[in-house]
Amino acid sequence: MTAKLELRDLEKRFDETVAVKKLSLSLEKGEFVSLLGPSGCGKSTTLAMVAGFETPTAGSILVDGQSVEGLPPQRRRIGLVFQDYAVFSKLSVRANLAFGLEAKGVGRAERAKAVQAIAERLDLTNLLDRRGDRLNMSEMQRVAIGRVLVTEPQLVLLDEPMSNLDAALRASLRGEMKLIQKQLQQTVLYVTHDQVEAMSMSDRIAVMSMGELQQIGTPEEIYRRPRNRFVAEFIGDPPINLIACEVQTGGGQVAVTTAGHRGLVLGRGSAPAGRHWLGIRPHDIRIGTGGSFPVRFLETLGAEEVLHVEYGGQLLQIVTPTGQAREGDRVSLQFDLRRALLIDAGSDAVLP
Ligand code: ATP
Repeated sequence: MTAKLELRDLEKRFDETVAVKKLSLSLEKGEFVSLLGPSGCGKSTTLAMVAGFETPTAGSILVDGQSVEGLPPQRRRIGLVFQDYAVFSKLSVRANLAFGLEAKGVGRAERAKAVQAIAERLDLTNLLDRRGDRLNMSEMQRVAIGRVLVTEPQLVLLDEPMSNLDAALRASLRGEMKLIQKQLQQTVLYVTHDQVEAMSMSDRIAVMSMGELQQIGTPEEIYRRPRNRFVAEFIGDPPINLIACEVQTGGGQVAVTTAGHRGLVLGRGSAPAGRHWLGIRPHDIRIGTGGSFPVRFLETLGAEEVLHVEYGGQLLQIVTPTGQAREGDRVSLQFDLRRALLIDAGSDAVLP
C-alpha cells in the first residue's frame, strides 16, 4: 500500500514571501524522511501541499509516479498524525481506531476486522476497550498512528507530533516510533525543528532553510559531511566550533593556521588560499595539561562536560568526560583533523 513520493521543483509563494523554493526530493517506499529546519523555513507549508491543504504555486507532487494535482485532501490516501497525538478522549481505543473507516463508510464487519488487525500489529489488543483519556503517552502514540494506518494510507505525514511533550517522554516515544516504523515499513514524512528527533528516527533528513533545501542525506552524512555552513551549524549539539583560519597549500597538501595553532595539516588536495573557517565539532577536540588556553567555565551534562575554552578571542566548546578539567585551568588542545571541515568564507560551502 505504501508509496513512493516525489516532489519536483515544488514552490509556494504567499504574496511577497517565498515559503518554499524549487524543492525537489523523493522518498522511496517505506522510507522515513524528516524535513528539518528552523521556524519559518517552509516545512509545514511543504507538508500542507503534500496533504492537499495548500496549492503549490509551481512544481509537482507525484505519488507512485502519479501527479496529485487538483486532488482534494480526502482523496489523497494520506494519513495525517496530529500534534500531541490527539485522540478522542471519550471514545474507546476501538472507536478511535475505527473512526477513519466509519467516516469513509466502511461497513461494520470490515471495520472490526481492520481494527483487530491494526491493534495486533501495534500491540493494542488489550487496550481496545479503554477510553482515550485513560491512556499513557506511549499508548496514545500507538493509537494515533493506528488510527491513521487502519485507513491504509499511501503516505503518513507527521507535523511536529512531539513538540509539546517533555524531554524524557519525547526520548522514549522516539525509540518506540522508530520500532513501529521498522515493523510497518510505511513511507513517512516527518516535520520537525528538533534535530535530535530527526537524527534518531530518520533514514534520511532533508535540511531546509528559508524555503530552500540545503541538503538531504542520512543522519551520519549530514552530521559528518554537511554541504555548507548552515547545515554544519544547525546539526550537532553543542554546535560545531567555527575558527577563523588562513589556508596554505603547497606540495599537494592543505594546511591551516589559526589563532592558536600553526600549520595544521588537513590532508592532501587543494583548497583556495586565504582566510576561511575551520569547523571542529565539540566531540573532536582533546584536551591536555600544560597548555596555554584557559578554561573559562564548564557545563556539566552528567557523564560529560562542555568546557568553554578561550582560543584566540573566541570561546570553543569542547565535550570531555567529566572531571578532566576545572574552571581556570590552562589546557592544550588537539583537534581531530580527520574530522575537521574547511568552510569557504565567501560562499559558505564546505570545501571537499
Ligand atoms: P514553523 O515551524 O514555525 O511552522 P515552518 O518551517 O513550518 O515554520 P512555514 O510555516 O511553512 O514554516 O512558513 C514558511 C514561510 O511562509 C514563513 O515565512 C511564513 O510566515 C510564511 N507563511 C506560511 N503560511 C502562510 C500563509 N498562509 N500566508 C502568508 N505567509 C505564510
